[in-house]
Amino acid sequence: MKELRKRVLTALFACSLMALSSNYLTFFSRTPQMPQILLAKELEDKDSKQTIYLTVDDGPKKSIETLLEKCEEDDKITFFMIGKLLDTPNGFKLACKSLELGHEIGNHSYSHPRFSKINIEKVKEEILKTDELIDKVYRKVGRKNPKLFRFPYGDLGNKKDKKEIKSFLENQGYKIYFWDLDSEDWMHYSKKNKKNLDEIINIISKTKEGDIVLVHELPITIEKIIPFYTYSDKYNLKTLTNIK
Ligand SMILES: [Zn+2]
Repeated sequence: MKELRKRVLTALFACSLMALSSNYLTFFSRTPQMPQILLAKELEDKDSKQTIYLTVDDGPKKSIETLLEKCEEDDKITFFMIGKLLDTPNGFKLACKSLELGHEIGNHSYSHPRFSKINIEKVKEEILKTDELIDKVYRKVGRKNPKLFRFPYGDLGNKKDKKEIKSFLENQGYKIYFWDLDSEDWMHYSKKNKKNLDEIINIISKTKEGDIVLVHELPITIEKIIPFYTYSDKYNLKTLTNIK
């Protein structure tokens, strides 16, 4: 009985192999495009894409609308916004639109001062005022504020206050983010050390898997840097809360 079962199974197996190979031959002789093979290649490309975290600082300005249009559907960005720009009807609307499209917003202070140049009470005010505004944006679109923070100019505060500022942020539930790759896009507008587009492209070409990339809401960024990332098949753009 056992032997018979084995024979039947072998026969069935042989039949399915033959059926498969005849399908295979028909497929290759009739289908020049080979869609299955293309699909496999697409999957492979998807796997080989580098996941990076693009962060855009110092908005929201009107230009954010053009920036959002240059994102493909899967590209999600984190915006570190300045409170006083958010504190206008249009700024608020632009921030809501960014969230509705699946992007994220973080706190980048209210007036973008150097924290080492102002007193600690002022620092706290800068953080809290912007925190309220960002909370309002998240509430408006029905999402929870993930509390992301970036220091203006990467300035952690003066020696005396540094520690207190950091624990104040943590007590407010904030996670602090710096960056791995600075695009130096702002230097395109520097009188003393102007960087041309080629130099900036050269810098961002070094972006690698897992990098947090720093750019600013500036014309050159919207015209050239954002498309460098979003129109390329090389990168998979995710928001900071996706970092494990
Ligand atoms: Zn900034």
